[in-house]
Amino acid sequence: MTKNYSLQSIEGKIISLDDKIESISSSIARYRDISDFSDVSDVIPVLLDKGESLFDGMFQSIIQNLDIISSSEEEASFNLILENTSDAVIELDDENTIIHVNSACLSIFDYREFELVGKSIYDIIITSYHKSFDEKSSKLAIINSNEHEIKKSDIDVFRGITKNGKVKSFESFSTSIMRDSKKIKLVIIRDLTYNKSLMDELKESKNNYDALSETIAEVIIRIDEKYKIIFANSAVKQVFGYEREELINKDFKILFPISEFTRYENEFLKYFYVDFKDRTEMGLKKVVEILGKNKNRGVSPMEMSFGNAKDISGRTLTCIIRDISSRKNIERKLKQLAFHDKLTSLGNRELFDTEMKVFFADLENNSDINGALFFLDLDGFKKINDTFGHHAGDELLIQTAKRLRSTLRDNDAVYRFGGDEFVILLRNIRKKSEASIVAGNVLNEIRRPYTLKYSKGTPSVNIGVSIGISLIPESGNNIDTVTKNADIAMYRAKETGKNRFVFYSKKLGVSAHERWDMEQGMKLAITNGEIDMFYQPIVDENRSVKGFEALIRWFHPSRGYIPPDKYIPIAEETGFIIPMSNWILEKSCRGLKKINSFPWGKNIYVSINLSAKQFDHKDIVSNIESVIKRTGVNPSNLRLELTETSIMSAPERISSIMEEIKSKHNGIKFVVDDFGTGYSSLSYLTELPVDSLKIDLSFVTKLFQKNNQKIVNSILNLSESLELEVVAEGIEEMEQSKYFTDRNCNSLQGYLFSKAQSLKDLKKSY
Ligand code: C2E
Ligand code: MG
Ligand code: MG
Repeated sequence: MTKNYSLQSIEGKIISLDDKIESISSSIARYRDISDFSDVSDVIPVLLDKGESLFDGMFQSIIQNLDIISSSEEEASFNLILENTSDAVIELDDENTIIHVNSACLSIFDYREFELVGKSIYDIIITSYHKSFDEKSSKLAIINSNEHEIKKSDIDVFRGITKNGKVKSFESFSTSIMRDSKKIKLVIIRDLTYNKSLMDELKESKNNYDALSETIAEVIIRIDEKYKIIFANSAVKQVFGYEREELINKDFKILFPISEFTRYENEFLKYFYVDFKDRTEMGLKKVVEILGKNKNRGVSPMEMSFGNAKDISGRTLTCIIRDISSRKNIERKLKQLAFHDKLTSLGNRELFDTEMKVFFADLENNSDINGALFFLDLDGFKKINDTFGHHAGDELLIQTAKRLRSTLRDNDAVYRFGGDEFVILLRNIRKKSEASIVAGNVLNEIRRPYTLKYSKGTPSVNIGVSIGISLIPESGNNIDTVTKNADIAMYRAKETGKNRFVFYSKKLGVSAHERWDMEQGMKLAITNGEIDMFYQPIVDENRSVKGFEALIRWFHPSRGYIPPDKYIPIAEETGFIIPMSNWILEKSCRGLKKINSFPWGKNIYVSINLSAKQFDHKDIVSNIESVIKRTGVNPSNLRLELTETSIMSAPERISSIMEEIKSKHNGIKFVVDDFGTGYSSLSYLTELPVDSLKIDLSFVTKLFQKNNQKIVNSILNLSESLELEVVAEGIEEMEQSKYFTDRNCNSLQGYLFSKAQSLKDLKKSY
C-alpha cells in the first residue's frame, strides 16, 4: 500500500498549528474560570478536558504518516520527515532505552546523538512523571492503518530535563510501530516552552479575572441557555445570601421573585444573542432594573447588565448584578429634598406640579373622578411672626401642616407653596357640598388656639385662614387655571372678611383675573429684567438740578409700558411690595452712588418712594442700614418719600421708625409725598420727623382753579414757619413754575423740566 505524503503536508500541519495557537487566545476568554493551576503544564490537561488540544492536529499528522511505513523503501522518506519536524521523535526498545532520536530531539534536550542513544528515557523525564509515562506506554497499541484517531487521553504532559539540567514542560504521545517484524516504541515529544509566554498570558489573564471577580462588589453569574448557573463569584453571598458553590448548577430563577423573572424572561433570552453594541438598535436596554431575592433578607432592587459568549457547550450569558438599594435610598432622599418643603416636610410646588399632572391625566381617562383644589392663606400669621419672631412663626407653620394633614383623607394631598400659603388637593370629590365640609373642618382646625414654645409667655395664640376653592373640572381643567382660580377665590375670602372659604365662580369678575395676572407678571418682570429705575430731576429757580426722584418703570414685552399706579397698589395688597421695595431700594441707591460720581453730581440727592407696607415690618430699619452699607451712598444725599395717607395710617408707629432710621444715618431726610390729600391737620406735621413736603400734583395741575391757590399758599406759609422745604411736583407750564418761585418755593419737579430718564440718558443730558 502506497500513500502519498510529503514534507509539505507536515509543514501544512505546522502552519495550522500556528492557527491553533492563535485560537488559544479566544480560548483564554472561554476558559477564564478554569480551576486554579499551579504550573504551566497543568493548563494543558484542563484544555484537553475541555475538548481542545494545542497539538492534537500535529500528532495526528505524524501518526497519519506512521502507518504508511509499510516497507523498508519508504523508511528513508519517513526519516526525512522526522528530520524536518520540530517535534522530538524518540524510538525506544522494550526496556525504554533510547535507540534512535531525530535532530529536533537533540536540540530540544541539548544532547549530541551519541550521548542520548543508549540512555534510558527516564533520564530525560523528571521522577514525578515516571509513573504516568509508564502507564501511558504500557497501554501502547500498535498503530494500524485503520485506526489513527488519537484519543485525548493518549496525550501525556510531563516535565523533562535537558542535558544541562533545565526543566521544561512537554506534551507527548507514545505509540508503537512494527518495523522489520519488530515492535518499536515511538515517543513524539513537543516542547511546550515556546508557548510559555502564551501560557503566562493565559495564567495572568485568569488571575486578573479572578482578582477582579472576587474584589468587585457586583455579582458575576454566568448562565447557560437553560438558565443553569455555571459560574458565580463570591459577591453572591453578600447580595443574594448564597455561597457561590451552592449556586453552581442551580436555576438562575431562584434569585428573583417568580413574577419578576417571568416579566423579564423573554427579554433575557435576547441578551444571549444580541451583542452589547447592537442592543440599543434592537430596543434592548443596556441595563435592566429588576427586583432580586436574597435567600434570607427578601427582595431588593438590583441593576443587571449582560455580556454574552459562545461556549463549546452553547451560548452563555454573563450577568453583572448590582444591589442598588442604597442608591435608591439616596435617590429617594434627594427626591424628598427636591420635592418637599424643609420646614413642614409637606410637598412643595414641584411636587404639586408633578402630582397634578398625574391627577389630570387620570381625570381624562376617568370622567367619574372629580376633585377640588384649596388655596389657603393664613390670617394673622404676619402678626405672630412680628410679635414673637421667626421661631414662633416656624413653629406655627409646622403645627398648621400637621393639623391640615390630620383633617384630610389619605389620598388627599397638602403642599406648602412658601410663606403662609398652603394648597390642598382633594381627590374624588363628587359634590360641592363635600368640599364645603372639608373646608369647614380646615377652618375649625386652624381656629383652635396654638400653643407655641416661642410665644414668650403668651399661653396660646390664634390665627385664621382664608380659603379659595376651585372645583375640578368645573373651575378649570388644567393646573394653571385651577390654581389661579383658587388663588383668586382666596383673595375674595380675604376681601370679604377673612377666616372663611369662597368657591371660585365667574362672578368673581374680570378685575380679579387682571389682578392675578398682574401679580404673576410682576414677579416675572423683576427676574426677566423688564423693570428699571428712572430718575426725574428736581430743579431750583435757575433750573439747576438739586436732586432726582427715583421712579419705577416697567416695560412689558407685549403690553408695553405699564404705569406704576396699575401695579403698586396690587403689590401692596398681595405683599409682593416687600421684595419689590427691597429691589427698588438697592437699585436706586446704586443709581444715587452713580449720580454722585458724575462730575456735576457730587451733592445731588435721590428721593426714593417707600410704601407704608414696608413699615409693617421692623425689617425696614435693618434693610435700609444694609443697603446704605452695601452701596456706600452718602446718607445726606438720600431722601425717602412716604405719602401723607400712609403716614396717617399709623402715624405713631411710622414716625418712631422714621426717628430710628434718622438716628442711624446722619443727614438722611424724609419727604411727605402727595401732601394735601391726606386731610391731616397741618399742625400735626410738627410732631413728625420730616424734612420736606411735596405738594400733591393735583393742586399744581389745577393751580389756577377754585381755591387751590389758597391751599398752596397756606402750605407754603406753614412750611416756612416750620422750616420745612417744599417741593412742587407736576409743573408743566411756565406760569406754574413762576407762581412757586415767586413765593420762594425753589424745588420744582415736572414735565416742564424733564420726565424721568434712565441713568444712561441722564448721564448724557447733564
Ligand atoms: P409720586 O411718588 O407722587 O410720583 C410722581 C408722579 O408724578 C410720577 O408718576 C411722575 O412721573 C409724575 N409726574 C411728574 N411730573 C409730572 C408732570 O409734570 N405731569 C404729570 N402729569 N405727571 C408728572 P409715576 O412715575 O407714574 O408714579 C406714580 C406713583 O407711583 C408715584 O407717585 C408713586 O406713588 C408710585 N411709585 C412710582 N415709583 C415708585 C417706587 O419706586 N416705589 C413706590 N413705592 N412707589 C412708586
Ligand atoms: Mg414720590
Ligand atoms: Mg407725589
